[in-house]
Amino acid sequence: MATHALRNVAVLGATGSIGASALDVIARHPGRYRASVLAAGQSVDALIALCVAHRPDHAVIADEESYLRLRDGLADAGLPTQAHAGTPALDALVSGPECDTVVAAIVGAAGLSSTLAAARAGKRLLLANKESLVLAGELVTRAADASGTEIIPIDSEHNAIFQCLRSRQAQGDVSRIVLTASGGPFRGRRRDELAQVTREQAVAHPKWSMGPKISVDSATLMNKGLELIEAHHLFGVGRERLDVLVHPQSLVHSLVEFVDGSTLAQLGLPDMRTSLAVGLGWPERIASGVGGLDLLRHPRLEFEAPDTDAFPCLRLAWEAMAAGGTAPAVLNAANEVAVSAFLQGRIGFLSIPALVEDALAALPATPADSLDALLAADAQARRLTDRNLAGHLSP
Ligand code: NAD
Ligand code: MG
Repeated sequence: MATHALRNVAVLGATGSIGASALDVIARHPGRYRASVLAAGQSVDALIALCVAHRPDHAVIADEESYLRLRDGLADAGLPTQAHAGTPALDALVSGPECDTVVAAIVGAAGLSSTLAAARAGKRLLLANKESLVLAGELVTRAADASGTEIIPIDSEHNAIFQCLRSRQAQGDVSRIVLTASGGPFRGRRRDELAQVTREQAVAHPKWSMGPKISVDSATLMNKGLELIEAHHLFGVGRERLDVLVHPQSLVHSLVEFVDGSTLAQLGLPDMRTSLAVGLGWPERIASGVGGLDLLRHPRLEFEAPDTDAFPCLRLAWEAMAAGGTAPAVLNAANEVAVSAFLQGRIGFLSIPALVEDALAALPATPADSLDALLAADAQARRLTDRNLAGHLSP
């Protein structure tokens, strides 16, 4: 058997759903991978508990006010783990010798800075944080190409496509890439039936167990819209070669059609540990803890067209992708503000697409070739959508 140098992995968003899956796979291969850096947003206690279990060299909390609690908690637990706080500290660890592999699993545009730092540093980048690609896909992929960073997509659809292509570049022989979508908890409902749905119903995804923001995005189909833009950047394909198909069983994770009429697909149980194991081991295969797929137990694979009337977020994402420039940044920022307000019970479900549509209409796309221009569009869309919330507040 081949021997491997021990790889030091930074898990960003360690206390989240993807973070837990990544740490599970890492712990299955103690001689081959170790978590050397763990980072989280605000949950200090959960981060300390993970440090007790995984004994990383460094722990980073985004919230600078929590630094002392983290430092003292690590010391009280008798750990040698060094405490850090804030984005600059995280970016420095991601760029430095403290890790050679980065799992980018922070939720939202908050993950952009560390994703970019990893892309510039020539690390292996297991990219789950799709929002950073929607916001600044060209900058991230350009930085990765310049530094020799290998990006392995972790989003299950993009990981499936990556496995079918065995590469991150779709060549001219690829005629179409089809992203599958579960359809979320409200598949089959009409638009007027969605007005009263609750937070609890929206986050109860039928097939995947995920963090709250992406669960709501799956319910509105914005998740698939963000994934179209993500695929566009990752695989270098325009919208004419991209398609979406609803597949309620969530067993076929995406498909690639070639010019000779062949279609390749990747199938598996809906468990993110498969994608993470692909990312860690590639081009080798390593155990993930996920069992094989017994098709006799899942004899039915169904497909249907998405309903963009009931779920306008998918259409809005297509339009933002076509408009290009700052439009995807505006789409993403308005959506983050709207989803967070929905999760707090402040607005109804149908206000999410309405607020995104208003932001796109009010802030027409301008060319965006710098990070500053994209961050300015992001900030402007957040301010605008925050103000527009007033017109949507639930009684
Ligand atoms: P989650 O809400 O479960 O976890 C988010 C993590 O990010 C937490 O550890 C949180 O502490 C951390 N975080 C939040 N803000 C931060 C900040 N400012 N700085 C540092 N850390 C911060 O979310 P999740 O479901 O694990 O999703 C993470 C990312 O992966 C998202 O971009 C999501 O779209 C993507 N993704 C998730 C899944 C899934 O199955 N969960 C599938 C595909 C893609
Ligand atoms: Mg996905």
